Amino acid sequence: MANQRKITNLLDLDLQGMEAYFLEMGSKAFHGRNVFKWIHKHGVTEFDAMTDISKRLRQQLQQQASIELPKLVYEQPATDGTRKWILELQDSQRIETVLIPDDGRNTLCVSSQVGCALDCSFCSTARQGFNRNLSVAEIIGQVWVASRKLGAAPSNIVLMGMGEPLANLDAVISAMKIMQDDLAYMVSKYRVTVSTSGIVPALKRLRESCDVSLAVSLHAPDNALRDKLVPINRKYPLEELIPACREYVKGDKRRKVTWEYVMLEGINDSLQHAKALIRLLEGTPSKVNLIPFNPFPGTHYRTSPAERVEAFRMRLKRSGIIATTRKTRGDDIDAACGQLVGKVRDRSSRELRMEKTGNIKLGVS
Ligand code: SAH
Repeated sequence: MANQRKITNLLDLDLQGMEAYFLEMGSKAFHGRNVFKWIHKHGVTEFDAMTDISKRLRQQLQQQASIELPKLVYEQPATDGTRKWILELQDSQRIETVLIPDDGRNTLCVSSQVGCALDCSFCSTARQGFNRNLSVAEIIGQVWVASRKLGAAPSNIVLMGMGEPLANLDAVISAMKIMQDDLAYMVSKYRVTVSTSGIVPALKRLRESCDVSLAVSLHAPDNALRDKLVPINRKYPLEELIPACREYVKGDKRRKVTWEYVMLEGINDSLQHAKALIRLLEGTPSKVNLIPFNPFPGTHYRTSPAERVEAFRMRLKRSGIIATTRKTRGDDIDAACGQLVGKVRDRSSRELRMEKTGNIKLGVS
């Protein structure tokens, strides 16, 4: 019977899942905790090297379990210290993980899907369309690889890579639990941030299951404009999104919603837009992160000039909103926001459709 059993990738299990798995195989929960610690804290992936596990149990694990990591195929350092790792998954799909060192912090930007289904008009990941969700193992595997490369866990983790994390909620929640676990990477709940374009029903579920910081890709202060930039807004408009975000941070005075706002010249970057944004965010503990647009081949958007971004930021600041401008990092290695394209391609090929209709040129490699 044993060889008919499905092999479980232990990297897919958070601590609770690991304990349950060990109980189910007739062992003890604390052995599960030990194995969990071996894998994530010590980076050990050979059962035989897990010296506090009995030989019999190790043999049993060898028969019914595995520890399968994404394969690191390419590492690219940037001149500014940003590092990009390209990982290959079992079905040969490739994903990218980016490490951004800054001010003594190491922020790891993790992907949650291969491609993305959301079709935001200024994002190059959108061009390749959606391929599939990542598993827990594939999400936490990015943290595993980065931690080994760094010799320590990153201090901050943002789910801001490729994909919409709240569209892959179950896997993302388990992975974020592992990121925070004392037996694993021990990243504080304030330093794990999930970035979403605003899938409102998922926000409530997220809040009930996992305590993490929230960043929302806002990009526009009114529905008419946001419908164009972030099309999911047609489904979950601002009058639903804003209260859901306010609710998310309620009850924890340290929490604020981080609103991401990509600065597109002549589109959303005027002082009128700033004023509308101030009104929109009234009553919600907020900080605004202005992101200079990272252009990519085929896009018709342009980056707002630095003075325009600064004027926008100062206008927000004058009304008491904390506003920062994101430094563009890693753009020399295509590791900046919205540039995580790599070698993955959507088989349904939104890109080709767009090319046929003449909307864009085929631009990505
Ligand atoms: N789907 C999630 C997370 C991935 S995108 C979300 O929407 O939040 C991470 C951030 O980069 C988002 O705020 C996204 O809007 C922004 N972004 C996408 N393309 C960009 C580009 N070309 N230039 C600058 N920021 C971009």
